[in-house]
Amino acid sequence: MTTVNDIYHFIDSFAPFDTALDFDNVGILVGDKDAVVRKVLLSLDVTEKVIAEAKRMDAQLIITHHPVIFRAMKSLDSHSLPYMLAQRNLTVISAHTNLDLSGEGVNICLAQALRLTNVTLTKEGIAVGDIKNPYTFGNFSARRFAVYVKERLGCKGVRYTDIAQSVRRVAVGGGACGEYIYLAKELGADAFVTGEIKHNFIVESHALNLVVVDAGHYKTEDVVMDYLKQKLKKAFDNVTFVKSQTFTDYIDYV
Ligand SMILES: [Zn+2]
Repeated sequence: MTTVNDIYHFIDSFAPFDTALDFDNVGILVGDKDAVVRKVLLSLDVTEKVIAEAKRMDAQLIITHHPVIFRAMKSLDSHSLPYMLAQRNLTVISAHTNLDLSGEGVNICLAQALRLTNVTLTKEGIAVGDIKNPYTFGNFSARRFAVYVKERLGCKGVRYTDIAQSVRRVAVGGGACGEYIYLAKELGADAFVTGEIKHNFIVESHALNLVVVDAGHYKTEDVVMDYLKQKLKKAFDNVTFVKSQTFTDYIDYV
C-alpha cells in the first residue's frame, strides 16, 4: 500500500522540498498526505481539464511542476482549482525549483534531450555542456542548431537569433530563464536554449555574440515529466503513473 506521504518522501530524497527558492511554493499543496495512492497523473500544470482527466482515470494524486497554489489566495470559490481538487478528493504534490536544483530537474533533462556531453549544473540550476556537430558537412551554424533543437524537442517552431557563430558549447535554461544569458556567456556557451526571453535580453545576447534559441516554455520543461514518470514507476511498482494527455502545449505557429 502506497500513500501520498510515501511518494512525497521519495521525491524529497532526491529533490528536497526545503531547497526550493524563496518565492516558490512546493510540496503537498492540496489534499491528504495519508491518502492511499493507486493511480497518479503527472502534468506540468493543473487545469480544470487535468482535474477531469484525473477523475476519469480514477487517480488519487496529481504531481505537477508548476505550483497549483502560487500567489496568496484571498478567497476559495467553486471555480478555483484548489477548491475543485479538494471537492473531488484529489491531492496535489508540486515539485518545482527543488526539482530543478536537484540535478534531476528540467535543465538536466533538457541537456540530455539535446544530447549535450560533459554537462555541469551551476548553483543557479543552469546546465551547460558540449555539443557535437550532428552534420557531416559544414559548421553547426545558429540556424542549423535552431533546427536541431526544434527536432530534438519536437517543437512546432522555435525562435532564434541568427548570429554568425559555430555552436560547440550550449547552456540551457528551460521555462522563463531569459535573464541567464549573462551566466551562459560566462560559462563559455556559444548558444543558450530557453523557454521564454524578453526583448531586452535578445538585444543584450546579440551584443554578447550569444545565439539564443527560444523553444517555448512547455517544450523546454515537459522533458522533466517523462523523466519523473519513469523514476517513480521504478520506485513504486504497485502504482500506475500516467502523463496528462489533456495538458499540452497551447502555443501554435502560423
Ligand atoms: Zn516553468
